[in-house]
Formats: sequence, C-alpha cells, structure tokens
Amino acid sequence: MIAESLHKIWAELKPFSAKLIPVSKTKPNSDIVEAYDAGNRIFGENKVQELTQKAEELPKDIEWHFIGHLQRNKVKFIAPFVHLIHAVDSLRLLKEINKQALKNEKVIACLLQVHIANEEAKFGFDAEELKGLISNPEIANLENINIIGLMGMATNTNDRQQISNEFKGLKDLFEDINGLPLPFNIKMEELSMGMSGDYKLALEQGSTMVRIGSSIFGLRSCAIHA
Ligand SMILES: *Cc1c(COP(=O)(O)O)cnc(C)c1O
Repeated sequence: MIAESLHKIWAELKPFSAKLIPVSKTKPNSDIVEAYDAGNRIFGENKVQELTQKAEELPKDIEWHFIGHLQRNKVKFIAPFVHLIHAVDSLRLLKEINKQALKNEKVIACLLQVHIANEEAKFGFDAEELKGLISNPEIANLENINIIGLMGMATNTNDRQQISNEFKGLKDLFEDINGLPLPFNIKMEELSMGMSGDYKLALEQGSTMVRIGSSIFGLRSCAIHA
C-alpha cells in the first residue's frame, strides 16, 4: 500500500516537477523501511525526539526534513544530520540554527514559515514581518544558514477556493521577495506547501515541495498537528 501510494503521488507530481516529502511522523520504522525499499529517500518529521531516534536507527542515506515547530533549545539535537528545516519562524531561531550549524561545520538549509491560514494558532511570519526580516542586516552575518524559500499551511477548511487563494498569496509573496535585493544566504527556490488534503491545489499554485503523510502511510491514530 505504501509503495503504491508513493508511485501514484510521484506520477502526479511529475508534470509539476515538484518534490514529495513523505511525512512519517507517529509511524513505525517498518513503514519507513517500506517506503525506503520502494525507492524513497526523503522523510519529514515534526518532533525532535522522534526524529533523532529514527535517524539513529534507520539508513544513513535518508534525507531528513524537520517540518514542525522547532524550539531553540532543541536545534542542537538535529543540527548534525538534518537536511532541511521547513518552518523557521523567528530571527532568534535562525541565529540558533546558524550557531549549531557552525559547530557542526556545515550549512543548514531553511525555509521561512509564513502564516497564510485564517486561523489563530498557526505559527509563522506575516508578509510585512517577512520583508522586515529579509532586509535585516543581521541576516548576512549568518554564514552557516541558507534560506532557500518559504513554507506555509492553508486553513483546515472544505472551502477549496479559500485554500487556493491562500496558496496563491504565498506564491505571490515568494515572487515579490525574489524581486528584492537579497543577501547571499537567501534565495527563493523552494515553496513548501500542500498536504494530503490540499496538495493538488498547492501544485496548481506553484508548490515545489508537498508534505504528505496520511495519503501515503494511512491515518494517524491521533491528529498531532504541531
Ligand atoms: C503532519 C503534517 C503534514 C502531513 O499531513 P497529512 O495531512 O497527513 O498529509 C504536513 N505538514 C506538516 C507541517 C505536518 O505537521
């Protein structure tokens, strides 16, 4: 089932040349190995402890993406091996990622999370805050981070038009920022948007990375949405 779902979604993504980030949070290693054996090498996780444990136990050529809300005091645990951090939502967090990347003699790729949903509880910058951050001269001192794009989550609603509009807003912001003078460590290359319920709408609006969990691995026993 896992292999079948992967192949189906890979085929759907192909015309858009978008990347699939299978989200394995809460799922056992056996499920991850099944996806690995089907040829997938990328996995997304949203809890630091779960991610570090899985990374220790599973093959070393897996590209681990951290997609959840990241606390500064936990950056050090994932810095040695993480491939991309999707949801950076403050300058303080960027500085900590830079510090831990430096300790590990690497550069860590990040996406900035933008708040696009019409919901209170979601994390992320709004458009003005984002532009403020990007023009902050301190960014150019962070030599061990590479900001490669934006990430967002649409409102959890059945209103397809609303979801589409939110994704379009994020894509427009991505293009706007691309037109601004940017420091050496910011590039707008990746746009991480779309989950199981809305990835087709996200692709239509220009997503380059979709983060899909339940459509590959099945429903999670409790909806952990951090
Ligand atoms: C859980 C999660 C996903 C995947 O959700 P599904 O609806 O299972 O596809 C995507 N992005 C983030 C940030 C998540 O936490």
